[in-house]
Amino acid sequence: MHELALCESIHAIVERAAAGAAVAWVDVRIGSLRQVVPESLVACWEAVSARGALAGSRLRCEVVPAQGVCRTCAAHTTVESVLDLECGGCGGVDLVLRGGTELEVVAIELADDVGGAAAGGYADEACPEAAGAGARRRG
Ligand SMILES: [Zn+2]
Repeated sequence: MHELALCESIHAIVERAAAGAAVAWVDVRIGSLRQVVPESLVACWEAVSARGALAGSRLRCEVVPAQGVCRTCAAHTTVESVLDLECGGCGGVDLVLRGGTELEVVAIELADDVGGAAAGGYADEACPEAAGAGARRRG
């Protein structure tokens, strides 16, 4: 289970980055040559995250196509699969691949951020009530 192993890696990265905060969405970018099925990855994520600190979070996948640059005519061709390496310009098969092998966590959206700041624009407005909520004493 290729996707399961990937999800476990992603989980470790996100768990560290979130540092205990509730995560709503995890955005990952996957190169088309990684042979990852996005639907499988999402399904595996639900299984992997269900039992940890990231329970309830969801995975979003963006598949990034690879580019093939022809050694014969220098045309650039979008490559969907390594089984389909053919130059869009001359029909040759001598392509140099660029990209398509990435697998990265590009953004983490915290549960508190839904409808608010997007990744990269995180506003410093940590809920002031949250600070006292856990410190309430009885008696
Ligand atoms: Zn060509």
